[in-house]
Formats: sequence, C-alpha cells, structure tokens
Amino acid sequence: MKKPIILTVDDDAQVLNAITRDLRQEFRQEYRILSVNSGPEALKTLDELRARAEPLALVLADQRMPEVEGVEVLTRARELFPDTKRVLLTAYADTSAAIRAINSAQLDYYLLKPWDPPEHLLYPTLEDLLAAWQATHKPRYDGVRLIGFQWSPLSHELKDFLSGYMVGYQWLDYETSPEAQALVKARGFGPTDLPLVLCADGAAVPRPTKGLLAEHLGIANKPQQELYDVVVVGAGPSGLAAAVYGASEGLKTLVVERQTPGGQAGTSSRIENYLGFPTGLSGAELAFRAWTQAVRLGAEFIAPQEVSSLCIQDGYKVLTLSNGSEVRTKAVILTTGVSYRTLDVPGMDRLSGAGVYYGAARTEARSCDQEDVYIVGGGNSAGQAAMYLATYARRVFIVIRGANLSASMSAYLIEQIRNTPNIELLPHSHIREACGQDHLEAVVVDRNGTVEKRPARALFVFIGTRPSTEWVCEQVICDGKGFVLTGRDLVQDPRYGQVWKKDREPYLLETCVPGIFSAGDSRAGAMARVASAVGEGSMAIKFVHQYLDE
Ligand SMILES: Cc1cc2nc3c(=O)[nH]c(=O)nc-3n(C[C@H](O)[C@H](O)[C@H](O)COP(=O)(O)OP(=O)(O)OC[C@H]3O[C@@H](n4cnc5c(N)ncnc54)[C@H](O)[C@@H]3O)c2cc1C
Repeated sequence: MKKPIILTVDDDAQVLNAITRDLRQEFRQEYRILSVNSGPEALKTLDELRARAEPLALVLADQRMPEVEGVEVLTRARELFPDTKRVLLTAYADTSAAIRAINSAQLDYYLLKPWDPPEHLLYPTLEDLLAAWQATHKPRYDGVRLIGFQWSPLSHELKDFLSGYMVGYQWLDYETSPEAQALVKARGFGPTDLPLVLCADGAAVPRPTKGLLAEHLGIANKPQQELYDVVVVGAGPSGLAAAVYGASEGLKTLVVERQTPGGQAGTSSRIENYLGFPTGLSGAELAFRAWTQAVRLGAEFIAPQEVSSLCIQDGYKVLTLSNGSEVRTKAVILTTGVSYRTLDVPGMDRLSGAGVYYGAARTEARSCDQEDVYIVGGGNSAGQAAMYLATYARRVFIVIRGANLSASMSAYLIEQIRNTPNIELLPHSHIREACGQDHLEAVVVDRNGTVEKRPARALFVFIGTRPSTEWVCEQVICDGKGFVLTGRDLVQDPRYGQVWKKDREPYLLETCVPGIFSAGDSRAGAMARVASAVGEGSMAIKFVHQYLDE
C-alpha cells in the first residue's frame, strides 16, 4: 500500500528546510514528506497527486508567498482531496488572515512561526490531525465506477457487460449514495446523463453504448487484417475452443462476439461438471481463462460486434458486421449458440432489465439481498441460478408447470436445492403477470388454478432457448427450428443434392457451403453442454485445415 503524503510549501528556503527536517524526523516512518518552494509548484503537485490518486493526508502551506498565497493552495487542496487536513503556517502579523481562512478555506489549524520546540508546538497538533485523517480516510477506489439508477435497464446492461469481461467495477446507486451524487456533480453531469461510467484512466462517459465502453476498456472492435484463414462467429465455449486451437495451430484467426465472451456458459454461476475442475468454477471465470488463452496464442478478438450477414465473393467468405464493415476469410466457423426465449405475459417487456431478467442471476444477485425472488424454469440453468440467488435473497421460488424437477434437472442440483431451506419449489404453476410502475414489485402466480399476487424483487426467466441463426439461415441449410445442419444430417436432408456440388461429402461439422462449419449449441443435434461445445469447436479447426489443404 502507498504511504500517505504530507505536503509542505514555503517560498523561504530556510523555513522550508526547517519544517521538512522536523516533519521527517517525526513522521517519515508512516508518511512520505514532499516539500515544494512556491505556490504554483504546490498547485501543480496537488494536480499530479490527484491524477495518480495518491493519498494526501496533510498540507502545510505558508500564507505569505508572492504568486499564490497559502490559503489558495489549501482551498485547492480541499477541492481535490476533501478529507485532507489543512494547516496554514503564519507569522504573528498574519494571524487575522489565518482566522479569516478558517472559514474560507475551511482550515483545520493555523501554526505560528517559529514552532520551536516542535515536540510542544508542532508534533502534538499534527499528530491529532493525522489521527483524525486516518480515522475517516477511505482508501480511494481506483477502478471502474458505474453510477446509475438501480432500475435502469441501461445500467443493468452495462453491469452485465462489465461482469462479462471480468472488469472489477464499483456500482453506485445514484438515489441512495451521496458519494455517487457528489461524483456526478463534480464531473459536471446530472441525473439525465446516467448511467455514468468513470473509467480507470480518468475518463467519464455518460450513457455509453457498449461499443463506446469497450473502447474505453481497450477492447478492439475493428479487425486488424485484410484476410483471415478462419473467422469464428461467437465467443461462447465452442468459439473460444476454436480460437485456442486455430491460433495455436498457426491459422490467422479472428473471433467476432456481439456481447461478452462465454456465451450462455458465461452467465452460469457454477459449472460443476466440466472436466478438470472438481470444485466447479463460474462460467465467467472459465470464459475469461479461455479468452486469455486464445489471445496469448495469437487469436484476434473484436467485440461487441454482431455479424449480420455472410456471402461468398471470389471464393472468399465475406462477413458484414453490425457497424457496416466487412471481414474477408477463407473459412468460417459458426458458433453462435442459442439465446433465451422470452416469457410472453403482461408486464414482462416493459419491466425487462428493471427487475425482470433473462439469465442475469449473477449480475443482479446482490441487489436481491434479503428479498423474495422468483425463477421461472426447471432446467439446470434455473437450478444453478436458484442456488446462487439463495445466498443473497430471503426466499427463492422456482415456478414450474410440471410436478417436479426430475425430468429436466440434473440429480446433483435437485439434491442441492432440496437441502437449501430458503428455496421453495412451486409445482403446477406459471407466471401470469409481472407488476410494477417503473420496476418489478410483484408477480401474479397461477398455482393449479389459484391466482395470487405476490411481492417480488426480481424475476429470472430460464424457459428454453432458440438458435441465434436468423441471419445465416438463407446461406446454410437449417432444420425446422433454425439449427444448422452439418455432416451426415445434412446429407440426409432432401435439399442437400440441390446445393452440394463437391466431389466429396461434407465433413462432420461442415454446412452446405464448403468451408463454412458449425459447432456447439446452434448446430442441429448438439448436446447443449459446455464440454461438447468445447469439443466441437476444437474439432472444427481440424476440418478447417482439411478444407484449406484442398
Ligand atoms: C445459466 C446456464 C448454465 C449452464 N450450466 C451448464 C453446466 O453447468 N454444464 C454444462 O455442461 N452446460 C451448461 N450450460 C449449457 C452451456 O453453457 C452451453 O451448452 C454452451 O455455452 C454452448 O456453447 P456455444 O459456444 O455453442 O454457444 P453459446 O454459449 O450460446 O455462445 C454463443 C455466442 O455467440 C454469440 N453470438 C451469437 N450470434 C452472434 C452474431 N451474429 N455475431 C457475433 N456473435 C454472436 C453470443 O453472444 C454468444 O456469446 C448452461 C447454460 C446456461 C444458460
């Protein structure tokens, strides 16, 4: 930890030497002593200390200096470091100026020169002031801060985005945090500019888009190369595995992700069945490890960028991104996975992001402290969310249409839920309505025909998924539900003969367009497991090599 600083300023070299010597003698074990010889120099030092977020405990300034007086230095110190203790050094003749400064600069003390002996006239006063500073000083938080309203959907999106990139951030609710209000005002913003992101580099970004926020976090959003060997669309487990294998095997590999790395797995609070992690790990951690690994091996990432279309030009595949730019590549791996189905009852759309969440249990769990929350769905993702939320919420209700969880959830999760006293299963039930003005306040639950309105802080929905393939279904053959057909499944489809013109059959993960592959949950017949998605992503790279060798 950095030692706190005592800054002293005096234009008289002799006095400056004397005060510096005395301060060092008594305080140097615990404090760094900085001394400067003019008012302008002191103002500059204060700015620099602030920019470096140094802890400034005390400023001792001589009043009578030619360009900038001591009071001005102390006033500036107060603006930049509100909790710093401020002491004016004065000659007897300047006592009245010092007394006036008690109000104007909110002086903590004035010391008369000379202060001999320091054991009586200097140290006791400064020790008291430093003890008071230590008691109230909160070490400054230097990371990213997100200031907004708890029920703002945009705030929720940004929280999700930051967590997805494992960016440690401090969330400050504008309504309840005086610190948040002060920070917003100090940067010249108001409530209509929220959410406001204060970045670690000092930038303040009001109502940022995810793209803008990504730029400030140093995440690339433009491809670096003219042509790639392989572009992977989607950075879920499957896409991340393809990136690791592609880059490690020397392919020029680009991954395009529309949100955050990890895909569905990234939203999982605890994955317990992934090989090699006996105590489980969070999806975000798994994603971050894989992402770091792929980047280290040389894969290029751009995000948040959505691929909106795909076509073939001069034998190359050309992908169009949501910002209109294009990427050329020899091969493509589609690893776009699936997205959550929405629950179609009154109030859900309106309150989405303001108490109604799709798969966001991790991001919003803390805001549910000691409240009642509801989960809709009986699959493993719902079970994991229930276990995670139960550590924060007062009660967690799982709403399912069936009689029990055995048909849809793994046995280990059912057992964990059974042993968690604050989780209650509501069988033969469904949600009829989400209620609330500007945020969720209650849900209407139908239990076997009995309808009841129950208070709810949050409603988390896990009712199945659909493949994220709308944009590509015209290029590649999909099944009736939109899952991409590959390999043997494709060969058996009646449309195969009309589109496949190569002498060979498609490779195992190849779509009806040679050189375009599909892996993971968006592929017809996929297993919807992290391990199988990872397996398919890595296998796809083997087929890319075979295709490029043709
Ligand atoms: C909450 C939850 C918990 C789970 N827990 C487990 C578990 O414990 N064990 C287990 O084995 N499985 C678990 N699963 C299932 C597992 O997470 C999925 O099977 C796995 O994530 C599928 O990986 P994927 O890469 O195929 O697709 P996804 O994970 O769905 O990733 C697809 C990615 O593609 C991106 N994308 C989509 N379209 C585009 C586009 N046009 N342009 C750019 N990017 C795009 C998406 O943003 C996403 O990041 C869980 C799923 C959920 C939702």
